[in-house]
Amino acid sequence: MKHVTIMGIPFIHIDQQGFVSLLQGHIEQKKKTFVITANPEVVIKANEDAAFMEYIKQATYITADGIGIVKGAQILNNPLPGRVTGYDTMMQLLDIANKENYKIFLLGAQRETLDKTIEKISINYPGVNIVGSHDGYFNWEDNDIADRVAELKPDITFVALGVPKQEKWIAENLHKFNYGVFMGIGGSFDVIAG
Ligand code: UDP
Repeated sequence: MKHVTIMGIPFIHIDQQGFVSLLQGHIEQKKKTFVITANPEVVIKANEDAAFMEYIKQATYITADGIGIVKGAQILNNPLPGRVTGYDTMMQLLDIANKENYKIFLLGAQRETLDKTIEKISINYPGVNIVGSHDGYFNWEDNDIADRVAELKPDITFVALGVPKQEKWIAENLHKFNYGVFMGIGGSFDVIAG
């Protein structure tokens, strides 16, 4: 897989549609996959915070989330095919999950936002099997959430804790999971909830 490295972060050289197909393949093959859709803020933060950079390096794929990264790659004379955003990836994965009856777990946001997100997904993607959820305001030492995810074995876990908490949560718990796609999606539940 070709990469373009910007400030120490290796971005996957792929377009939005290609990336979603790649993830679907991993879901079908039950291959554990940690996705970070990184915007310029993430790149800067990783360069300022060594611990955050370590979490980022555990990702299976890092995509260019935003025109800033795509422009940066152009300036470096190493162009990327385009943006691959967290929100678009989530919505396209929900489409596939709807057709394939994938199991999903939702972690993050305020309980009220999460409940609205679940309601919207249930209405618009009735084929999606939401196996569990937890709001994003929990005690970090409480390992029950990751243990539940490990038991429920979702095909996709969307983690909306914001940067850098979502990357930290996935990186610290990844060893507990056998398979599935795990991705940080920032404020996407707030967008879906409306
Ligand atoms: N969030 C959370 N727990 C936290 C901090 C944030 O669940 O401890 C949620 C917040 O409610 C929102 C989402 O994370 O739904 C994204 O937050 P923010 O917009 O700050 O992050 P960004 O999109 O900038 O990464």
